[in-house]
Amino acid sequence: MAKIVLEKVCKIFKGGVKAVSDFSMEIEDGEFIVFVGPSGCGKSTTLRMIAGLEEISDGTISIDGRVVNDLEPKDRDLAMVFQNYALYPYLNVYDNIAFGLKLRHYSKADIKEKVMVAAKTFGLETLLKRKPKELSGGQRQRVALARAVVREAKAYLLDEPLSNLDAKLRTQMRVEITKLYEKLKATFIYVTHDQTEAMTMGTRIVVMKDGWIQQIDTPVHLYDHPKNLFVATFIGTPQMNIFPGTLECKKRDAIITLSGDRKIRIRTARIAKPEAKEVYLGIRSEDVYIDENGLPAKVRMIETLGSETLIYLDFGGGETIVDSDNFIVKIQGRVPYAVGDTVRISFNTDKIHLFERETEESILHIQ
Ligand code: ATP
Repeated sequence: MAKIVLEKVCKIFKGGVKAVSDFSMEIEDGEFIVFVGPSGCGKSTTLRMIAGLEEISDGTISIDGRVVNDLEPKDRDLAMVFQNYALYPYLNVYDNIAFGLKLRHYSKADIKEKVMVAAKTFGLETLLKRKPKELSGGQRQRVALARAVVREAKAYLLDEPLSNLDAKLRTQMRVEITKLYEKLKATFIYVTHDQTEAMTMGTRIVVMKDGWIQQIDTPVHLYDHPKNLFVATFIGTPQMNIFPGTLECKKRDAIITLSGDRKIRIRTARIAKPEAKEVYLGIRSEDVYIDENGLPAKVRMIETLGSETLIYLDFGGGETIVDSDNFIVKIQGRVPYAVGDTVRISFNTDKIHLFERETEESILHIQ
């Protein structure tokens, strides 16, 4: 069990690449923290600095109150699973999983019991005699997971541990890791670029971009109250719809005017920076509904997903959308529309997000 504290941690690689900047956070004992962000944002580097596999350029990392900046990885008592699994090629699956336990002089009976439990958890019982080269990528990854969690460590660090698994196994393993966390109640730090993994597994999520922390929050709060445009569009599928507009705050109501002079009203009291003029309005696809008194939009494409339907709309005015030209609306169940139809939609104004265009920061009060 471990409390891990990072204070203004920086990493500059030789050649001047600044991979991590001023990373500060307190990870409480027993939390499941997920580092998420696009490729190259510095999440693996941060994890590797915590593990001691990468020197830090500035700042401090402490584990249970002890600064570990100069402590060897083996002395930090952390278990780690890498993206490339790093199994011992000459040992079979059983011995790979047992390796750390043997080093720590566990009894033979104890080792057997622990290895069998881990093998069962990760569906490896029938593969125990095989060497890594006789396994698929996904099977190797499961061995690496079993090896990491088989012994008690202060914290478990996992770097994209599910990246080589197919979609079904990925979902299954996600559940297994969550169950394992519930059982061990140890500190987990998990790196992924998959926001579904982040949302479903983390007690808190750290969203990173270009080496900088963007927001640290619980999954639900992150989803409901993204601090900036990057977090808003990174978390959530489909991506949040974003429209440029102008803001005018009156005493009671604030009016956001989108292209084509379409006006959306929200309460001025929700806005923390009423003086902002140029804004982006954000609305998630599930917060738009069909409304015969609403704004017209043309159906471009329909994706029927079974229990819900995504309607891709042309909302008019080519420059309406920032990242993609699509305005996506999610409707529960099926819809009677066809491509080319005009539908009328309204925004659930309680769910509107508002960002200042210049800074891309949210200008709403956080509830
Ligand atoms: P991915 O999801 O692709 O693994 P990441 O968010 O984990 O990405 P890092 O691997 O932490 O990103 O890399 C952060 C930045 O540091 C990138 O720009 C990367 O190119 C750079 N970097 C990583 N390792 C080194 C190194 N050994 N030398 C120089 N630059 C490096």
